[in-house]
Amino acid sequence: MNILNKIKKANLVGRGGGCFPVAIKWEMVKKAVGDKKYVICNASEGEPGVKKDGYILENFGEKVIDGMKIAIDFLSDNSTTPSPSLPKEGISGYIFINHEYYKKLGRKLNKIIADDKKYNIELFIKPDGSGYIGGEETSILNAVEGKRVEPRLRPPFPTTNGLWSCPTLINNVETFYNVSLVADNEYKENRFYTISGDCLSAGVYELSDNWTIEKILRETNNYPEFGFFVQVGGDASGEILNSKQLDKLAGGAGSITIFNAKKHRSEELFKKWIGFFINESCGQCTPCREGVFRLEKIINSNNIDWKLIEELLNNLDEVSFCGLGSVVSIPIRSYRKNVMGL
Ligand code: SF4
Repeated sequence: MNILNKIKKANLVGRGGGCFPVAIKWEMVKKAVGDKKYVICNASEGEPGVKKDGYILENFGEKVIDGMKIAIDFLSDNSTTPSPSLPKEGISGYIFINHEYYKKLGRKLNKIIADDKKYNIELFIKPDGSGYIGGEETSILNAVEGKRVEPRLRPPFPTTNGLWSCPTLINNVETFYNVSLVADNEYKENRFYTISGDCLSAGVYELSDNWTIEKILRETNNYPEFGFFVQVGGDASGEILNSKQLDKLAGGAGSITIFNAKKHRSEELFKKWIGFFINESCGQCTPCREGVFRLEKIINSNNIDWKLIEELLNNLDEVSFCGLGSVVSIPIRSYRKNVMGL
């Protein structure tokens, strides 16, 4: 069975948070016409509370790079594709890596890459100060091209118009790791979860992707004996769930952060979330640039106007240019609904 069929059979989805089917993305890049194609491994991991890609790179760097090589081989294989889609100038790969991971793992990853001269893969360090938005797919393209790090208008999508307008396959670290497992018939339908916060055994765990949040917390000895709630999918953009809502899968980037219900302060949480989005907004579009500042002002006032906050959140949801603006509402609304009962 060829790799594409294996990926389809395994139902692999992207593990950067979007859960887009891997096989569909690979086919799109394969079919796209271009003299050159690129494969990018997104190792930017910029959301607080999510550490699994760093863990995977540290412990399974060879498998991640192997997954990239499998992608390059797939895009170079002319036995299954009409020749116009084969890039005359070949396929290059980048690992787009954040500075912290580069400092810790750059030497090791460069050595793994250098051990196999057949492939043209190199590390690209995420520019300083580009934060969370620097990990967004089209921001990565701008960063590698040396442009201002901000999202691009979509469509066109990177699969057809990526780096220097060439078809570009962008997958996350965990996704390439899974591809390598699938190729070696070792994939066990697991995924990585980062567990943190008010818990006994914080860390990164590789567990079944079918386990509920409750089962994950119990099996890892992290189910609290005190009243609690969790944030799932990232400490900034993740949804807040109370302890009676844990009979569901941990979506997004697979993180679960536990909060002691008695010890937290809601104003601090609102300020933390909004402060994160203020720092990370690239300022390209008005709803986000102005909206998050307005939110901060309202939250800091003595009398919080929740009607006005709702209007601003609706605006962010509907007209933000990229995903950062449209996730601002998720923690705020879900906290109010699931923890405050409003
Ligand atoms: S939503 Fe925010 S981060 Fe996204 S493009 Fe607009 S200003 Fe930049």
